[in-house]
Amino acid sequence: MTQIQWPDLPAAQQPVWPDTQALNQARAELATLPPLIFAGEADQLRNSLGKAAHGGAFVLTAGDCAETFKHNTADSIRGRLRTVLQMAVVLTYGSTLPVVKIGRIAGQYFKPRSGETETVNGITLPVYRGDAVNDIEFNEAARQPDPWRMVRAYHASSATLNLVRAFTQGGYADLREVHSWNQDFVKQTKTGDKYELIASDIDRALAFMAACGVDPSEFRTVDFYSSHEALVLDYEQPLTRVDSRTGKLYDVSAHFLWIGDRTRQLDGAHIDFASRISNPIGIKIGPSTDVEDIGKILEKLNPDRTDGRITFISRMGVEQIKEKLAPLMSASFKSGHKPLWVCDPMHGNTKTASTGHKTRDFSDVIGEVVGFFDVCRAMSVHPGGIHIELTGDDVTECTGGMEGLLDHDLPSRYETACDPRLNRVQSLELAFRVSEMLKAR
Ligand code: PEP
Ligand code: MN
Repeated sequence: MTQIQWPDLPAAQQPVWPDTQALNQARAELATLPPLIFAGEADQLRNSLGKAAHGGAFVLTAGDCAETFKHNTADSIRGRLRTVLQMAVVLTYGSTLPVVKIGRIAGQYFKPRSGETETVNGITLPVYRGDAVNDIEFNEAARQPDPWRMVRAYHASSATLNLVRAFTQGGYADLREVHSWNQDFVKQTKTGDKYELIASDIDRALAFMAACGVDPSEFRTVDFYSSHEALVLDYEQPLTRVDSRTGKLYDVSAHFLWIGDRTRQLDGAHIDFASRISNPIGIKIGPSTDVEDIGKILEKLNPDRTDGRITFISRMGVEQIKEKLAPLMSASFKSGHKPLWVCDPMHGNTKTASTGHKTRDFSDVIGEVVGFFDVCRAMSVHPGGIHIELTGDDVTECTGGMEGLLDHDLPSRYETACDPRLNRVQSLELAFRVSEMLKAR
């Protein structure tokens, strides 16, 4: 394959690899490995996102903050997928809109961090940057960035995606299984009961259709797309290939890539990278986003104005959403573009609990989504989706919700490698609340 020459631009948040030779070897290895996704699939997703930008669909992006090699097990993958499928059922049923399903999965192994180093008990070491860079263990050897971990992350992502494709195409995601996704701890909760009612309605509707001789194949499989933050360019660049059909570049590490709030500098390497690939792209926008940048980002990344190419993922925090989002939407109107607007109600609402754990309160998460819907209504913009961090397990990382998790519950099952995630019951509860908002829209 011809290697692409990338311009030498400033790139924020890159690991300092101690061994250049190893880095070059690992990059060369990545460049020879097969694609994880096809360009045609990324195009199909872009079309669906375009539909959402025009009000004809709702996007659900969900998964881990940081995937880890340790938790890349069949149980964990199935748990996350099942949670997304249940949420999608609730959202589709409530809104009667198609739900585009995207996982933060099969590549979400890189993390931006606020500092270069971390100090514990007087010892200072490089910060953890995700399993694809270094190990979370706090010792000198573990924290050394090792480029071969990127190759391991590729193989882990490949195995994950293989299982996801089997689950979503091989019968597990069949709508007839709608009851069977609602097992174990969720079933004992009020939210689980509410879900059972919808599942029974869907069963009846399917039985009715079958009795009428209608049995569409669309009910047997679902389209489920992969996504992660395009952060470490030593991973993304070698996995960027020319599509033989069109001659265009695609990052074949995932269907959808987003640029984080810390790396969206207009003159930086990440935006330049995103401008060269044809995948659908997300841009996180936070309270510090300059209104002037909106039009510039849209022109730079989507000069052809392709529908579904750009998704703005707003992560303002419950306190600032009302004030900060509307001017950015106005700027996009002025530019003449029609991007998709999605709400990430997680990253602006992180705080430290009295126990010292990083947490988010469920009411802040809901509050930001309510604020997002309000702004969208006022601006006549379709509230196009939500982007959240969750797990399929019964973890205790975010407070609140109908189970009423309190600060002192957090230590009982706090497992995240980075940010606090909604557990399965909280995730379902969020889906019910959002589906009500969509109904009232
Ligand atoms: C993330 O999505 O995990 C993340 C780091 O988000 P942001 O760039 O919005 O802070
Ligand atoms: Mn996160």
